Amino acid sequence: MAFLLYHEIALQGRELCESEPGYVRYVLDAPQFEAQMLAIKQAGLEGVSVSSALEFPSRAVGITFDDGCETDLLVAAPLLKKLGFGATFYVTSGRVGQNGYMSASQLREICGLGFEIGCHSMTHPFLTDLDRDGLRREIVEAKDRLEHFIAQPVHHFSCPGGRHDARVIEMARDAGYRTLATSIPRTNSPSTDRYALGRLAITRGIKARAFQRFCRGEVAWTFALHARLRDRAKRVLGNAAYVRLRAILLRR
Ligand SMILES: [Zn+2]
Repeated sequence: MAFLLYHEIALQGRELCESEPGYVRYVLDAPQFEAQMLAIKQAGLEGVSVSSALEFPSRAVGITFDDGCETDLLVAAPLLKKLGFGATFYVTSGRVGQNGYMSASQLREICGLGFEIGCHSMTHPFLTDLDRDGLRREIVEAKDRLEHFIAQPVHHFSCPGGRHDARVIEMARDAGYRTLATSIPRTNSPSTDRYALGRLAITRGIKARAFQRFCRGEVAWTFALHARLRDRAKRVLGNAAYVRLRAILLRR
């Protein structure tokens, strides 16, 4: 089953949370997002949260959002609700209430609409760069903070920038998370490791055909290959150098 990954959605007249090319690449315009949700419906599929997706119902697509931007509530939630879709919103705990991000009361509102909240760290660092204390803050304390806001347990974690390693997985497991979502572009099945869930990140440049294939769980080998090459570059260059290089390439 495909798990889609969305980020902030662009609304006319509203400033985005970040402006660097590596971020904007994953920002869809509201009409494009709406067209994609309608395409899911028209294909006879249903959008579901991570918890529901893990029961692997037939004809479903997992729908996830990272970062906890305000457009989760302003744009995505009303449309998803209208279509009868579920979704999981992974929230960066330390950004709750900051300009452009959901506030604690907005988090409660989105929960009240029946959507699921997951955790996306405390301050959005690359977790693989952190020591043990840093990991504890970003994985364990971030969970406590979110649970305090929404007065519900948080079962799912997604890794900022997709970065994860064995220490990250161990800390997430010990903290009581039931799953860990990555940005590895692959579909999930009942035999997939729950602490290495794949997700297909949707970029603003994606064509309708490619999107439909994603929803059917067809990930092109070229797409998977590019992701593997990017992954290798991140490891070889280190996170900081990789981000600088990507910014240069995307500005061209
Ligand atoms: Zn993120």
